[in-house]
Amino acid sequence: GIKCGIVGLPNVGKSTLFNALTNAGIESANYPFCTIEPNVGVVPVPDPREQALAEIVKPERILSATVDFMDIAGLVEGASKGEGLGNKFLANIRETDAIVQVVRCFENDDIVHVAGKVDPLSDIEIINMELILADMESLEKAVQKVIRVAKSGDKEALAKQALYEKVLKEVEGGKLVRLVELTDDERKMLQDLHLLTIKPMMYIANVNEDGFENNPYLDAVQKVAEEQGAVVVPISAEIEEQVAELDEEDKAEFLAEMGQEEPGLNRLIRAAYELLGLQTYFTAGVKEVRAWTVKKGATAPQAAGVIHTDFEKGFIRAEVTAYDDFIEHQGDAGAKAAGKQRLEGKEYIVKDGDVMHFRFNV
Ligand code: GDP
Repeated sequence: GIKCGIVGLPNVGKSTLFNALTNAGIESANYPFCTIEPNVGVVPVPDPREQALAEIVKPERILSATVDFMDIAGLVEGASKGEGLGNKFLANIRETDAIVQVVRCFENDDIVHVAGKVDPLSDIEIINMELILADMESLEKAVQKVIRVAKSGDKEALAKQALYEKVLKEVEGGKLVRLVELTDDERKMLQDLHLLTIKPMMYIANVNEDGFENNPYLDAVQKVAEEQGAVVVPISAEIEEQVAELDEEDKAEFLAEMGQEEPGLNRLIRAAYELLGLQTYFTAGVKEVRAWTVKKGATAPQAAGVIHTDFEKGFIRAEVTAYDDFIEHQGDAGAKAAGKQRLEGKEYIVKDGDVMHFRFNV
């Protein structure tokens, strides 16, 4: 699945957040592959459209799209030099599709801050610097390696050398690779290096219950994030952990008391989904209503391939109904009668919320 790595300094609330995320997921008992590794949680993406579809189709079960969250504890200053098992953690981050950085924006005299005081900007700098140092090392090694081939005049190697050196220079100046201007081709050429700071990143500002407004720590995080074109999701990990443990009834009551319609985690999960450039399409039948994840811009055969690779290979056509039309006309038959069900071919670009049936050869 799509994987987000949770990073941050010690004592900022990573484990608390991870517990909240994984507890919130347990209630959907429909996930056969729920526990992969102890530090990976399969978290359903909350989407109210599933319920609306289910009311029409009356399926046996509903399956949500999921995002995997991985708790990557222990990224500390010096990690890139191999301190504190640093290399293992960097290797973990390499596996992820996006980085979720938790930043401490709450005061609590009982909880030690590793740097002595709450200072989100310095925390962000420490973490980002470790990631940048790791990328610097990858780039330096890559330059050394490619230089040997480039010497013989090999065109591809020469292009790679030029690119690696260009990116290395930016990274040496403290820039995240994500913020270096690159063409699509250049991005592709960098793929083998598995750089860390090229990944999309968002900040989770972990605040106290009363810390969502007039919180200078939060304001500071928002300002840096803006400069980096990154998203900030303010959340109180401690509250989310408590909410996640409640049963449905108590949860609704608790949220109502706090004047919220849904747990803050839902915002976080959706933001992660958005960050990864993902969207959802649905299959809706009597057996199940199911949300599937595809990249924005995916074609109909690629969408079919998410269900099964054979569906992509043997793709013939898709019957597609926009979500709103499906709801308005109360299902496939109604949508078809109203002329709202389309037959789409291989070139069709899937839209968020499409309800799809695939026809394929086996
Ligand atoms: P980690 O080292 O980043 O995984 O941090 P933990 O999740 O273990 O949290 C460190 C401590 O901070 C724990 O005692 C948490 O209960 C506490 N904590 C986490 N989030 C909050 C919060 O939003 N407000 C307050 N006051 N304490 C929190």
